[in-house]
Amino acid sequence: MDTLLKTHNKLEFLHPLHGFVNKVRPFGSLKPQNQDIRFGSKKEQIRLGKSVCVNASSSTLLELVPETKKENLAFELPMYDPSKGLVVDLAVVGGGPAGLAVAQQVSEAGLSVCSIDPSPQLIWPNNYGVWVDEFEAMDLLDCLDTTWSGAVVFIDDKSTKDLDRPYGRVNRKQLKSKMMQKCISNGVKFHQAKVVKVLHEESKSLLICNDGVTIQAAVVLDATGFSRCLVQYDKPYNPGYQVAYGILAEVEEHPFDVNKMVFMDWRDSHLNNNKVLKERNRKIPTFLYAMPFSSERIFLEETSLVARPGVPMDDIKERMVARLSHLGIKVRSIEEDEHCVIPMGGPLPVLPQRVVGIGGTAGMVHPSTGYMVARTLAAAPVVANAIVQYLGSERSLLGSELSSEVWKDLWPIERRRQREFFCFGMDILLKLDLQATRRFFNAFFDLEPRYWHGFLSSRLFLPDLILFGLSLFAHASNTSRIEIMAKGTVPLVKMINNLVQDRE
Ligand SMILES: Cc1cc2nc3c(=O)[nH]c(=O)nc-3n(C[C@H](O)[C@H](O)[C@H](O)COP(=O)(O)OP(=O)(O)OC[C@H]3O[C@@H](n4cnc5c(N)ncnc54)[C@H](O)[C@@H]3O)c2cc1C
Repeated sequence: MDTLLKTHNKLEFLHPLHGFVNKVRPFGSLKPQNQDIRFGSKKEQIRLGKSVCVNASSSTLLELVPETKKENLAFELPMYDPSKGLVVDLAVVGGGPAGLAVAQQVSEAGLSVCSIDPSPQLIWPNNYGVWVDEFEAMDLLDCLDTTWSGAVVFIDDKSTKDLDRPYGRVNRKQLKSKMMQKCISNGVKFHQAKVVKVLHEESKSLLICNDGVTIQAAVVLDATGFSRCLVQYDKPYNPGYQVAYGILAEVEEHPFDVNKMVFMDWRDSHLNNNKVLKERNRKIPTFLYAMPFSSERIFLEETSLVARPGVPMDDIKERMVARLSHLGIKVRSIEEDEHCVIPMGGPLPVLPQRVVGIGGTAGMVHPSTGYMVARTLAAAPVVANAIVQYLGSERSLLGSELSSEVWKDLWPIERRRQREFFCFGMDILLKLDLQATRRFFNAFFDLEPRYWHGFLSSRLFLPDLILFGLSLFAHASNTSRIEIMAKGTVPLVKMINNLVQDRE
């Protein structure tokens, strides 16, 4: 989070009360700031434990949040030895899912790899959700710890959609362990530090770390997530932001079916007694995303799908507390919490450039959904194969020529066009209020599964995406059609313009 805030120091959030723009605060300071948010009425009370009954304020909920629990894997890591001054084939900066996946696959081909991360053993902190078919296609079903046979979307109090598509929660400990084990057995070396700078020579690059060590590599991969440490951008960075606050909680009870995950709950009756919140939610809606593990254990996340500027975390927490209270969810304890800020859309990095990228750093987050982990894991072999092919035994390409080929494989024209369409989707979503958002998803989840599955999992390319758009329009209500035309015309023109300008 530290790095995220540093990078996005221009990141702006709406003021929760007055709608003016505020500079982001470090999330670490949320606890004290939240203490003056109070709900008055008796209805807005949640009961903690069996007997304690306290005001349902964000601060009360936060009091249950444990001190950050940093769990490490117990691997003995083979460390990089700087004294040898070796030039490794590949240096991977960042040990998230994206970086480790590429490190594993390049090392499998016999190339030398150094993985650099300030906390290489730390279990990834994010709670990842994926569609089961996405992980099945990558033979990663053993890395899901819970699956649900389907999902549900609450459009409003009267209407729900049952999604017949299994959903799963990633077992991040298992996934990271599996990747680390493979990296270790393939001979990957680890270096525990932050990279602060990169210097390029003709056939190699020098990575300067914050511990004074310099690592030399033929290819540098920036996999530092949204901190975008080394990859360069040449256009103004203007993403939308998905902001969410999640808790993994022990509760006395909850109203959800444990066989289905709650993909989106757009109901707003929990705000009926709070006009201010209700109005804020009407303009920029948030929904509940929930993974019920049992009748007493559940992951609950209040989410702003996308907004520019992003919805402030305090506002999200306040809405969440009101929702839990209304749903009769009595929180006994919180195992972990998650502050989620995902930049969505915005420009791609400079293509090509000397440093190669993958994951958050390379614009790979889905601009209309914020999802990325499955897409990144599926793209890792593309990046790894390109590196292996050009850096393999013949060393046919080096330096910028090699990076250029890798970027071409990662962002071919079909993928750039697909992303442009997803950004168009984001631009429309940014303009929809609660009612319009409901109408949009009402039509979206009525589409043939191949369309909505394909859209959410980045499997549709431009010709199919156009059919998807037409189908969505055909399924939409008349009001929704008018809305899409009114709010989508400018983004549509922008998309067409960008598509025309972007040539192979
Ligand atoms: C809270 C949260 C929840 C999310 N949930 C989902 C989800 O449910 N489903 C989904 O598909 N996507 C989800 N995403 C989006 C996305 O999949 C994740 O952000 C994912 O972790 C990105 O993977 P990554 O490997 O690109 O980057 P990261 O996982 O962010 O890893 C980057 C790594 O780089 C390291 N690093 C940073 N700077 C440096 C440096 N200078 N030198 C060396 N190392 C450095 C960091 O320590 C970190 O280990 C979520 C994102 C967030 C923030």
